[in-house]
Amino acid sequence: MDAQVKPLKPVPSDIPVTRPSREEAEAAVRTLIAWAGDNPNREGLLETPARVAKAYGELFAGYDQDAGEVLSKTFKEVGGYDDLVLVKGIPFYAHCEHHMVPFYGQAHIAYLPHDGVVGLSKLARLVEVFARRLQTQETMTAQIIDAINENLGPRGAAVLLEAEHMCMTMRGVKAHDVKTVTHRFTGVFAEDRQEQDRFFAMVGHR
Ligand SMILES: [Zn+2]
Repeated sequence: MDAQVKPLKPVPSDIPVTRPSREEAEAAVRTLIAWAGDNPNREGLLETPARVAKAYGELFAGYDQDAGEVLSKTFKEVGGYDDLVLVKGIPFYAHCEHHMVPFYGQAHIAYLPHDGVVGLSKLARLVEVFARRLQTQETMTAQIIDAINENLGPRGAAVLLEAEHMCMTMRGVKAHDVKTVTHRFTGVFAEDRQEQDRFFAMVGHR
């Protein structure tokens, strides 16, 4: 009998491959320092691999965080308030997945509550969950709005990110003061142009 050929299981992109040890990570940083042309054994750089590994723990903490957990607690006693909730100007610092160079800016998030609201600081934390990963601005925009829809089930949601990408300002085309803007609308915001305009006006766009 022929053995069934098992198809190779695709590796889900959100599950990291086996994490290397701290020592392996530090060795990799030493390799990159040497690749850049410097001497990883000179005094000023001796502790750098350890510092970089530690900094990565903070800069990429999002991999160990869960959006559903952040948005799990909602409040229903809001005095019947059901109009737009907008949190604007949430600062974020992310790293582009193409060059591992920072891109940073502000996130503006709005939603029309359906069954309760979430603590305002939770929306800032939600942005952190996705910013502290290797990202593209487009993916991050989609992930934020998807998490809001999945966990809050609002009548509509709007997310706008504006950011400066260091991989554009420092290298390549060296475009200064260029802001990349991405936005996404769902529910009432996707259907109703007036709601979109209201959102743009409130966040100061156009
Ligand atoms: Zn880049």
